Amino acid sequence: MSTGHTTRTMRAARLYGKLDVRVDQAPWPAIEKPDDVLIHISHTGICGSELHAIEGYELSKGALGGALAPSNLGHEYAGVVIEVGPEVKAVQPGQRVTVVPRGPCGKCALCRAGISALCRKVTHRGGSWAEAIVAPEQLVYALPEDVPNAVGAITEPLSCAVRIIDRAGLKTGQNVCVIGAGPIGLFSAVLAKHAGAAQVIVSDIRASRRDLAKRMGVDVVVDPTTQDLREVVMHLTHGRGVEVSMEAVGLEPALSQAIELVATGGTVMWAGLAPTHISVPLSPNDMFLREYTLRTSWGGVLEYERTIRLEQAIDWTPVVQEQFPLDQAMHAVQFARTQAAGKVLLTIDD
Ligand SMILES: [Zn+2]
Ligand SMILES: [Zn+2]
Repeated sequence: MSTGHTTRTMRAARLYGKLDVRVDQAPWPAIEKPDDVLIHISHTGICGSELHAIEGYELSKGALGGALAPSNLGHEYAGVVIEVGPEVKAVQPGQRVTVVPRGPCGKCALCRAGISALCRKVTHRGGSWAEAIVAPEQLVYALPEDVPNAVGAITEPLSCAVRIIDRAGLKTGQNVCVIGAGPIGLFSAVLAKHAGAAQVIVSDIRASRRDLAKRMGVDVVVDPTTQDLREVVMHLTHGRGVEVSMEAVGLEPALSQAIELVATGGTVMWAGLAPTHISVPLSPNDMFLREYTLRTSWGGVLEYERTIRLEQAIDWTPVVQEQFPLDQAMHAVQFARTQAAGKVLLTIDD
């Protein structure tokens, strides 16, 4: 090219096909709207939903066949504001921030009906497994001084756990069981303990996750490959089951087991993201006789402010120790799938 004009690019880890994440050059994101905020990313998390996409659960044939452009990855992150549009007031360059992936529009039927937590209309452009990203001011939250970027980067999954605890209606002194100690299960278990649960029992097949759960204050950890979770729960609850039974796997038999373990009158929380083809047999008669409540919980977009306060109140640093540079994204993905204890983060240096 002889024009001398160069288009700025950045490193980004993107999905090219099943289990095929590549780090290459992507267009540098630009401020386009007056309320845009340009953020240099410092830490970004690997979410279970991304693992699903990478494993091919939700990929279109085109993406799998390589016919479509690579897709962006990443929605959990923290970083530093580098530029703002002319109408932005809440943050300035230099401010450390985290971003909610989507927010309510205030105009659609859901928002008008007061169900704005489920409105997905305001979103940002691009993925966060990259050097920089642009987000509308409405979605940007400043991080307090005492919340490091690595912890700020877990705000999104932690906000999901905050909403899970809210929707479970947990009361002090209740017993809680969490099946699956991936980030969402672990965060929910820790929050349950802080919210006054009497006993929190966590089950996970991965030893590293059980160890971390113990370290984060969980009362009882169970290895379902060598222990019978039902026996442990019934023993600890005098045969009643737990008042709040959470599932954070998204697969059978965990979904059904959460129902088996709930006490009469208790609440089952299905918090795991299940692949689209999963369905679960339910006994209406059992549901009737035990009058349990079955609930789900989607996201935590309205819970960010309270979540950031919990990042100040609780020491989350043990759960953000597994960090890899962006260039090792595929390695980090494999680590998250098979070995990780806590939240796996990608780090981006300047
Ligand atoms: Zn997420
Ligand atoms: Zn809306």
